[in-house]
Amino acid sequence: MSTTPQIPTPAHMLADSMLSRHFGKETVNYFSSSPINRLSFLRSDHPFLSTALKHPSARFVLLNNLAPLTPSPAQLHYAKYDEVQKLVPHDIFDTSEEEMIKNYDSRKTHPTLIFLGLDENRKEGGLAWKIYSGTPYFAVDVTPKGSEEQQTAAKDVIGAMEAKGLSFFQTRVVMSFSADEAAIYAQARALMDWNTRNTFCGTCGHRTLTVNAGTKRACPPTDVARSTEGKAEERPECNTRTTLSNLSFPRTDPTIIVAVVSADGKRILLGRSKRFPPGWYSTLAGFIEPAESIEDAVRREVWEESGVTLSRVVIHSSQPWPYPANLMIGAIAQVSDPAHETISLQHDPELEDARWFEVEEVEEALRIGTSDLSSEAGPEYKGGLRLPPPTAIANQLIQAAVSADYFAAEKHSKI
Ligand SMILES: [Zn+2]
Repeated sequence: MSTTPQIPTPAHMLADSMLSRHFGKETVNYFSSSPINRLSFLRSDHPFLSTALKHPSARFVLLNNLAPLTPSPAQLHYAKYDEVQKLVPHDIFDTSEEEMIKNYDSRKTHPTLIFLGLDENRKEGGLAWKIYSGTPYFAVDVTPKGSEEQQTAAKDVIGAMEAKGLSFFQTRVVMSFSADEAAIYAQARALMDWNTRNTFCGTCGHRTLTVNAGTKRACPPTDVARSTEGKAEERPECNTRTTLSNLSFPRTDPTIIVAVVSADGKRILLGRSKRFPPGWYSTLAGFIEPAESIEDAVRREVWEESGVTLSRVVIHSSQPWPYPANLMIGAIAQVSDPAHETISLQHDPELEDARWFEVEEVEEALRIGTSDLSSEAGPEYKGGLRLPPPTAIANQLIQAAVSADYFAAEKHSKI
């Protein structure tokens, strides 16, 4: 089944402003612009979380080894609390975070439960808490793991869901959800993946405990499982307890991705890796390294992968990429001297090919030759250049780079 997921509706106000007149409309990328208000400041408020968990409107995104529960590849399934109750104890938030850490017992395990936020567009029948209202969303890890009790409960939940005809969508990259669901899934997946990878403390090597509604991992100072004479054993000192530690919080790894325009503005630089289907090219991309600005990273990556030397770099838009925890920072860049356009693949052998494409050829490919990596191009495609779909920031950058509007000195307000 082929579906065409839409690009998100901007979460911000589409009002006239000096910025929009000067820089044009903001590009909102797939996986961003979630309908959910994360309310990050309520993540340690256990009375709030406890009420949200048990509220009849609460909805749960279920992940099994990070694969989302779906009725079809185009849709997420939102479970109700009674469907996950076996796995998620109703009193999980009845003690404070401080007590949870103090009473830590490595024998007792719970699935990771993440509070995603409130969908404020769905207030009717939703939760009202102080000045905030909407439908609470959680993500829960149903992967059978942890204690035997947890594994049995997880298998029961999975079995009941599969009996209803639902299945866990096994694919490397999910790009088939609607824009809203893609953003919800991205948040759930990225945080679940981080929790799964960080079950042991990166500083002292002991087991960690998820706190802050699934957005922080604590290294408890004691473990009741190892008590002597009724007293919980103290674990070794760990500086994640005494200092603000980046080992306790989820990470986001910035990467750059760039559409490069030739000196005369008539050609676009694209590259391909070996794993791409025939004819498929995309923008160049790579990780930002420590102590490197976004602009430095763009210039370095483009030179390393293609031998092309850039002049001006402009940041265009960004895209969260939850595979596993990237933020793609999209840029448009230009070469100022035709002598700097010579392609060389001899530095970094990452690309199989890099090539300058005429703007007309790129425009044609944008019209008839886009698809994700695992799909066929559209029915009009008869060979030649193929490009990523509009859900990929690469496509949005290419669109901007071939657009006369983007380079117009004077922009008119199109919001
Ligand atoms: Zn530790």
